[in-house]
Amino acid sequence: MKKIGFGSRCVHDIRKESTTASHTLPIYATSSFDFSSIEQGMAVFTGEEEGHLYSRFGNPTIESVAAKIAALEAYKLDIETYGYLFSSGMNAITTLMLACVKPGQKILTQGNLYGGTTELFNKILQPLGLDPILTNLQDLDQVERLLQQDDSIRMIYFETPANPTLACVDIAALADLGQRYDCLVTADNTFCSPYVQQPFAFGVDFVVHSTTKYINGHGNSTGGAIIGKKGQPGKEEIFMGLKLVGGNSNAWDAWLINNGMKTLELRMERHCANALQIAKYLTEHSQVEQVNYPGLTSHPDHALAKRQMRAFGGMLSFELAGGLEAGKAFMNRLQFCKLAPTMGDVDTLVLHPASMSHLRVPPEVRLANQITDGLVRLSVGIENAEDIIADLDQAIGA
Ligand SMILES: *Cc1c(COP(=O)(O)O)cnc(C)c1O
Repeated sequence: MKKIGFGSRCVHDIRKESTTASHTLPIYATSSFDFSSIEQGMAVFTGEEEGHLYSRFGNPTIESVAAKIAALEAYKLDIETYGYLFSSGMNAITTLMLACVKPGQKILTQGNLYGGTTELFNKILQPLGLDPILTNLQDLDQVERLLQQDDSIRMIYFETPANPTLACVDIAALADLGQRYDCLVTADNTFCSPYVQQPFAFGVDFVVHSTTKYINGHGNSTGGAIIGKKGQPGKEEIFMGLKLVGGNSNAWDAWLINNGMKTLELRMERHCANALQIAKYLTEHSQVEQVNYPGLTSHPDHALAKRQMRAFGGMLSFELAGGLEAGKAFMNRLQFCKLAPTMGDVDTLVLHPASMSHLRVPPEVRLANQITDGLVRLSVGIENAEDIIADLDQAIGA
């Protein structure tokens, strides 16, 4: 087989078995995997032997990253977790819901979810017969009444802290209610990352992430993850969803996510320290009417946040005196901070919900969710805090 044609040479690789291993995680840019014999192929297909078949449902780069996120969510806890990596946070949430909630069953959740998740529930899942019920998840008596009244509620789904006021819900209390009423409980932990908060420590069944945010941290890949507990219901159905709906990640994005994750602890420490310093600075500014940051003792959920978070995260929002016009003028005067509709990146990102993410939401609905005209959301980066503060200072003005 030495003398093959030019075209054949172009097609077939020359590979040397190496005695040294790749120092960094290799990018397995392959859609499928070769078998050494028909017997081995059959053994892998039947599951007798471990091995990869096809990258939609198994690829070493993707699995390595999913396993790392699963391990971080289980850090120091007495549980064993598994993880799956998806093309986006939205895909992870969709796959989880289709796997765990059946037509005729309901999802109990909050009104102040990530906008995409609210739309997913209303526009995709509800027409399929998976009804979302919106309630205030801080009102535990109301949550219990709803669970008592309606045994078709299959899932409690929440974010804590949540946009835009960083309101927190009691993870342990919701997980306990879920267990008592035979209902699965999922936390979207995107706002925190496992460094800041580990929902499994408080008894949830699943954690989902948009890895696009803090876990990647550098704004150069889109991805999502579902983390579950080994031996608990749902794993097979989630894997089936991954296989058959095909929302898998890919080796390139997985590699970028992994590269970003290497500094997750260092980044989160800095995000949290900077955010607290900026929250305190804003609190003292005469043109700032209100600062929402769970690390401030003035935040209504500070005590709860302290119980369930290791630090208070990098997200905050504040209300400028002067409403919509003041908000817009502030945004246009920024020079160092960037205007971008994402969060969790290494650089400081600013969003004005009234003129950006919630522009199409009727004002009365916005206001009911505390998204006031002058509200500004800050995803505090890991730059030097004095540079961020100097920019905020000149942009807020006198
Ligand atoms: C961004 C985000 C999502 C959606 O994730 P994508 O990766 O953009 O699909 C879900 N939940 C929260 C809290 C988010 O911030």
